[in-house]
Amino acid sequence: MAFWNKDKSQQAQDSIPRTGLAEAQAGLAGIKSIIAVASGKGGVGKSTVSTNLAFTLAKMGHKVGLMDADIYGPSQPGMLGADLEPPHAHGNQIHPSERYGIRFISMGLFLGDGGPVVWRAPMAMKMIQQFLANVVWGELDYLIIDLPPGTGDVQLTLAQQAQLTGAIIVTTPQEVALGVARKGLKMFTQVNVPIIGIIENMSGFTCQHCGKETPIFSTGGGRRMANEMESFFLGSIPLDPEIMASGEDGVPLVARDKDSNPAKAYMKLAEAVNTRIEEMKKSGNLLEPENVAFSPKGELIIRWPDDHNSVHTAFHLRTNCRCAVCVDENTGRKTLNDSSVPLDLEMKGVNPVGRYALAIGFSDGHNTGIFTFTRLRALCECEECAKGRKAESFEV
Ligand code: ADP
Repeated sequence: MAFWNKDKSQQAQDSIPRTGLAEAQAGLAGIKSIIAVASGKGGVGKSTVSTNLAFTLAKMGHKVGLMDADIYGPSQPGMLGADLEPPHAHGNQIHPSERYGIRFISMGLFLGDGGPVVWRAPMAMKMIQQFLANVVWGELDYLIIDLPPGTGDVQLTLAQQAQLTGAIIVTTPQEVALGVARKGLKMFTQVNVPIIGIIENMSGFTCQHCGKETPIFSTGGGRRMANEMESFFLGSIPLDPEIMASGEDGVPLVARDKDSNPAKAYMKLAEAVNTRIEEMKKSGNLLEPENVAFSPKGELIIRWPDDHNSVHTAFHLRTNCRCAVCVDENTGRKTLNDSSVPLDLEMKGVNPVGRYALAIGFSDGHNTGIFTFTRLRALCECEECAKGRKAESFEV
């Protein structure tokens, strides 16, 4: 029985038992790349970038979905046109709306126009979980998720429960915006979500009368931030009244005037995103197992993209657990006494956490351990890896 299968076909996904976190991911099973679009603060154009990126990728021939997870201020429905047909619900399944060939879901579609959206955190979390588990996205090349600004619970839930391929950070060029964008980027790195890159929005304004460019919010900050943080700069979008107007009218700019300068900037951006994701996948930057299953002896066997099969016994994983129960968070010192772990320990349940880790439960009742793929690879107990580790420790 497999706990993970990188093959995105429905058949492969159906073979995975749906418990706990895996249940939340069932609705995302047929999606090749899931991209979160984030920003440190509101008003930097994150939703505008998400909509135009989704539209441009669809225009390039990809199958695209757009999830407006900005549940406190859902602005996407307006940007895609006010007359969107609402999503249909059948039992607990939600069929997304569709516009310009993009499958689309937003809290705004259920609320209509009107009062403020007031959610207590648990309700907000439940809503996001429903968007993840119950929306019938079908087979998609890209799902773009427009996150609320900042680094709160919704962002964390998504980072942990949606199998994110990576995150894109949108910022404006001035220092005050870059400061909070850096925090957003760090949050994703902390939970091991790869950063696809940084987009600088509202970068330079070209006067329609004299053609002179004025950097109203300064310029070059996004690229500088990418360099500083050893991240990737995806491109910049100019400050342009046409972008604002097309958002108001509900027609993505690339659909309205594909030859305009800002439309060309979106096309360039979508190409950069597409290429960057392909490269990340090829280079193994997105360390993801091909398959995870138990051996007849009860060991966890993980097959990696380079065809290496790593072997993990329950005892070794349990005694190398770094959760807050097993390691003192302040000093980093291990608090678990290995001799308290039974030698006949077994694994009870393996669940994916985002696209970066497995949560493993054990027969002694311990169930708070999360093992990132990078760490699992390093903990492999096969003869070859164990020998390599021994040689390294002699060298020291
Ligand atoms: P966020 O999602 O970060 O809160 P929005 O995408 O809602 O920001 O954009 C805020 C406002 O700025 C909207 O009115 C939008 O039309 C406008 N806007 C976004 N990007 C640009 C741009 N490059 N040029 C001009 N106006 C823009």
